[in-house]
Amino acid sequence: MTRPENSRCGTLYVVATPIGNLEDITLRALRTLKEVDLIAAEDTRHSQKLLNHFGIHTRLISYYREKETERAHELVLRLQEGENIALISDAGTPGISDPGAILVRLARQAGIAVVPIPGPSALTTALSAAGLTEGTFIFLGFLPSQKGQRQKLLASLADSEHPLVVYESPNRMEGLLADALAVLGERRAFWARELTKSYEELQGGNLSELLTLAGSRRNKGESVVIICPGIKNQAEGDNLEELLLWYRDHSGLSLKDACRKLASDLGLSRSQIYQQALELWQHKD
Ligand code: SAM
Repeated sequence: MTRPENSRCGTLYVVATPIGNLEDITLRALRTLKEVDLIAAEDTRHSQKLLNHFGIHTRLISYYREKETERAHELVLRLQEGENIALISDAGTPGISDPGAILVRLARQAGIAVVPIPGPSALTTALSAAGLTEGTFIFLGFLPSQKGQRQKLLASLADSEHPLVVYESPNRMEGLLADALAVLGERRAFWARELTKSYEELQGGNLSELLTLAGSRRNKGESVVIICPGIKNQAEGDNLEELLLWYRDHSGLSLKDACRKLASDLGLSRSQIYQQALELWQHKD
């Protein structure tokens, strides 16, 4: 292993692991996990299965949220004594809605080399398939579990021009979608569930459609939800045709009602919108 900064200290490798499909691990991750002295893992039993699958016999030590600070100090001492350590989480990239940041910060403060080994993350995987045209996004990770706090956070972002990316666990999907709909109103959204696994599903629609879908599912799966900006916040970036098409295909509103709503949202007169809307409605299908 290379020891780039301080020859007596080891290196901390922050290694991304698969979010479902084991073939998504990189060659560099495999080599690193094989060569380090120790692997700090969020759940050692879970990670042992990954290591067994690839015939890796490196020692594991647990590094989980509740003991993060205590463990981080111990691991920094080991790094200072020259051990090379890899940090992994249960799935994806450590530090992304997972433990890792405290150890990384302490190691950096101690002058220890920190080397990221990039790979899967549910965040980038979902974004890569969402086809967002905004080019920007706000990553929120898990929203607060308390309904009031969750709604408050969503309300504070209601005027954002950027899509919101949220992580959600299976049993809270409906709560998230219901709150988003209540606080933000109808929006375009994208639901990526069980990414890279055999039941992977990528579903676009509006929030109310996704809420209905979530209600009809027994197993909601691990999910990433992307909520697009409200129509008002998109008005400057998108052209009118795109907005009209969205209203035609997703809102369930009649031509007349869609024109009324859009005109009021955009501060235009209905007659400015009507002709273009009529042509699009006539060309549906
Ligand atoms: N560190 C991980 C990463 O880089 O994406 C995230 C870990 S966080 C504790 C777990 C959450 O990530 C899940 O509740 C879900 O929101 C999302 N997630 C993880 N794996 C996923 C998958 N295969 N499909 C969809 N979402 C997933």
